[in-house]
This record gives sequence, C-alpha cells and structure tokens, in this order.
Amino acid sequence: MTLSEFSISIDKSSSSQLQTMDWENLPFGKVFTDHMFVMEYRDGSWSNPRITPFQHIEMHPAMSAIHYGQSIFEGLKAYRQHDGRLSVFRPDMNAKRFNESAKRMCMPEVPESWLIEAIRSLVKIDSDWVPNKKGYSLYIRPFMFATDAWVGIKPSETYTFMVILSPVGNYYSEPVRVKIEPHYTRAAKGGVGRAKAAGNYGASMYPAKFAQDNGFHQLVWTDAKEHKYIEESGTMNIVFQINNTLITPSEEEDTILRGITKRSILSLASHWGIPVEERKVSVAEIVDALKSGTLQDAFGAGTAATLAHIAVIGYEDEVFHLPALESRELSLRIKNHLDAIKLGEAEDSFGWNALV
Ligand SMILES: *Cc1c(COP(=O)(O)O)cnc(C)c1O
Repeated sequence: MTLSEFSISIDKSSSSQLQTMDWENLPFGKVFTDHMFVMEYRDGSWSNPRITPFQHIEMHPAMSAIHYGQSIFEGLKAYRQHDGRLSVFRPDMNAKRFNESAKRMCMPEVPESWLIEAIRSLVKIDSDWVPNKKGYSLYIRPFMFATDAWVGIKPSETYTFMVILSPVGNYYSEPVRVKIEPHYTRAAKGGVGRAKAAGNYGASMYPAKFAQDNGFHQLVWTDAKEHKYIEESGTMNIVFQINNTLITPSEEEDTILRGITKRSILSLASHWGIPVEERKVSVAEIVDALKSGTLQDAFGAGTAATLAHIAVIGYEDEVFHLPALESRELSLRIKNHLDAIKLGEAEDSFGWNALV
C-alpha cells in the first residue's frame, strides 16, 4: 500500500457530543471527540484504514498487549490559528519517534506519511473540536498495541493502530514542586527509556505517588546506576538555566526520551544566540547552584504542558525555592514565542506548523 493507495474509509457519527462540552471545566484527557482512526496489521501488512464514530473496542482476554506490554503511544497537539486555520505541531517528528518506539518493542512500523495522513484526516473531520480559546488545544494520541490472542511470550503477529483526540486546556496551572529521586529508576541503559512504551509509565507511578504523598507534583529522575545524574522530570524533559546558559541532560544515552518540545526550545534559544549545553548534568551541580543562588530557572518541557516552570526542588531532606516566576525572562519569552508560532501569530521560520 503506497500513500495514494492509503485510502481511509469514513463512517461519520450521526450525532455530535460537542454541544455537551463544558469548556470552563475541562479535565485533561477525559473528553474525546466524535471520531477515531483505526487500522489493523495482519499477515505482514496494514489493512482497512478507517475513521469511525468514537466507540469502545473489543479485545480477547489473552490479547498479548495486556499480558506482555507490546504497547506504544505518541502525543502531539493541533491548534486553531488566529486566522482560523488548523495546524499540527511537528507531526513528522512524532511519526519518526513512533517508529523508533515500534522498532524497540518489536512492533511493525507505520509509514510516516500514513501516520501523518491519519492524523490530518481525523483532525479535519473533528475540526470543530479544536478549541478557539487561549491556552487550549486538541491533544492527539496515536497508539499501537499487540492483539494476538495467545499467552505465549513472543512478538505478536497482529496489531491495532489507532488515533484518538481530546480537547485540553492547560496541564499545570501553577509552577510545580519536584523532588530529585535518590532510589527508584525510570530507565536504565539498554532498557526502553527512549521509547514511548506503555510500561515505562506504569512503572513510574509507585515512586511518583510517594513524592505526591510528600507534597510534590512529580519526580526528577536520576540515572539508574548511581542516582547522581539528572535525566528527566516526570514525563517531561528538564532544562536548567545557569549563568544565562540553558543546560539539559544529553540524549545520547538511551535512557532519555527525545522530546520534541525540548528540541524546539533549544532550537529557538540557539537561534536567539543563547548558549545551550546538552551534556551530563549532575545532581551535585544543581544542588550547588541552588545553594549559591546561581540557578536562574528550571522547567519541564513536553507537549502536554509545553513549558512547566519548577517552583521548588526537593533533595534528601532539603527543599529549595527557585527565583520568582517574573524574573524568568528567558523561559517566559521562549514559551510566549512558541505559543505565538503555534497560533500563527509569530512567523513560523522553522516550518514547524503542518496545516490541516
Ligand atoms: C513524551 C515525553 C516527553 C516529552 O516529549 P515531547 O515530544 O516534548 O512531548 C519527555 N519525557 C518523557 C518520558 C515522555 O514520555
């Protein structure tokens, strides 16, 4: 099947849930649009690409994704630009990363052009769901899972690929409190930390819950071997600002998710002449900078929140407060500019917006 043969059949929903939406009280990721995209992998190829009314899916009790975790996902967003046109932010990057995750999990790839076309078609059909409200967007969730009905451990021979859409507001409303994790591990070298594999998130919940019980929103993950180097913050990449330089853990090791938001932030900062360092970042270096007051800023970077400022960092028995939000000029400027690009208010000089 080539892209021209990739013809999506469409079964439109007879009614829309859009009128029942309460935009003022929108929980993150719990409301879905009227349609979804589905296709299946059988006998070595993808078949029956279709858009159907949003509905439950049937599954066999022995479905291998449930038992052995061959399950991956992506997350990206569609925006309503100020002139009313719709755009998706860097879907080519998500399509590439999806297939890197697929490879690592022994799952079949979805040709990039199909994946992007599936997203484009679905967003178009549910275009009325793309919010026209500041800070709001349409979250896009592509995912794939193994469907063999067999409790034997081996790569499944059948899979389902789907895309669902969820209108969302701001993920975090206030700067977050994070705790540097000294014991638990998100990802180890040689593991699957670089993949957006479902099990990574299941494994992170227990330690994250501990942190939440102690008054933090999320964890700062450290390396699996010594817990001396900083890796990520919750499900976001982490960026620090010291001496007017942006510093972030290097992606070279396969324990860090290669975030598209972080990549975009670093591209923008470099373009503006801000020094950027991607390297190992030790916990000691960050604690020293917190103690001496040279840590100007720290924030998480990810599609859900774009840029989530960190208010407090906890480490062992100490709690450090970061500078007031108003003083964080660079990250505020980056956030505003990224938002302006996505909404078509600033020139998209990097070509990041894919118009729907
Ligand atoms: C998705 C994700 C990110 C952020 O990636 P974006 O492409 O910016 O959304 C960072 N870390 C983890 C662990 C993630 O799952």
